[in-house]
Amino acid sequence: MEIKITRSECLKAKPDSNALGFGKYFTDHMFVMDYSKEEGWHDARIIPYGNISLSPASTTLHYGTEIFEGLKAYRRPDGGVQLFRPIENAKRMNRSADRLCLPEFPEEYFLEALKTLIKLDEDWVPSEPGTSLYIRPFLFGNDETLGVHAVNHATFMIILSPVGSYYKEGLNPVSIMIEDQDVRAVRGGTGEAKCGGNYAASNRAGDRAEKKGYSQVLWLDGVERKYIEEVGAMNVMFKISGTVVTPALSGSILPGITRKSIIEMLKKEGYKIEERRLSVEELAQSMKDGTLEEAWGCGTAAVVSPIGELCYKDQVYIVNEGKIGELTQHLYDTLTGIQWGKTEDTYGWTVQL
Ligand SMILES: *Cc1c(COP(=O)(O)O)cnc(C)c1O
Repeated sequence: MEIKITRSECLKAKPDSNALGFGKYFTDHMFVMDYSKEEGWHDARIIPYGNISLSPASTTLHYGTEIFEGLKAYRRPDGGVQLFRPIENAKRMNRSADRLCLPEFPEEYFLEALKTLIKLDEDWVPSEPGTSLYIRPFLFGNDETLGVHAVNHATFMIILSPVGSYYKEGLNPVSIMIEDQDVRAVRGGTGEAKCGGNYAASNRAGDRAEKKGYSQVLWLDGVERKYIEEVGAMNVMFKISGTVVTPALSGSILPGITRKSIIEMLKKEGYKIEERRLSVEELAQSMKDGTLEEAWGCGTAAVVSPIGELCYKDQVYIVNEGKIGELTQHLYDTLTGIQWGKTEDTYGWTVQL
């Protein structure tokens, strides 16, 4: 792949790395590549970050043919920059592409595009504790037609955003509302694809929870509203009577890379871990009889997010006295240690720029 680079003529001032927030600032450049059925992927280019032009009839605007990824670049203590399991993101994006009939993007292109863009904007990788450079690759159908069919034209892009620490005052347990009306996804639908449409379908429940003072929604399965699926845009894990239980990937759950990494870590460290169906009744019972020891969400943005309170049908349960569990803290420390290059990566998960 040959990448044509057009450098920005006026570089932006960097934002204060103590007030980055999430997804508010973007770096100087972005990666773009086009696809057509006739030519395949072509015209790889890095250009100044800025607005793009689309046909008002572009497929993505009408039929939601959009998928995305999310990963981070971390500033190591020695000043270097590293990525965490980027090939997993490339593979997952292609599984999402398959589900939405979008063209697959070659894994080696994915990594090369990522590395070339980040190297160019390397100054934007912040170094304050807990900060990182969030990477947002996305791919969308871009045919100029209102006809409904698999796409003939598509565009792949990467934009970069320096982001602040998720936990400014240390790991903070969140309160979660179990959602029993809306569902996020159904088996056979797009739940296991990372696509924009899933997020559109989640907003209403998210808003409702927020109005009631909860930070996220715990999703139940779309058919029986009986089995636990995910929490907000994170996978979820529970420690019940010493065993870690996480919903099995049923087809409607997003296969998180953080989830996968934690499972591998727990197995290596000798913990008991079960991937299986977990009903909301079983969870409620474990809260009532006190066998629920810890609960946490996991995903790239927050890494590990302890759950301190769960509300189900107006009944409020407090988890681990609203405090961070020992295992939750251990997972957070271990994973962030590897990601920021503070502890040795014995798993081979990190890729240096
Ligand atoms: C991205 C995402 C996750 C977490 O995946 P990671 O690879 O760990 O960041 C979980 N659930 C949903 C719905 C997601 O979109």
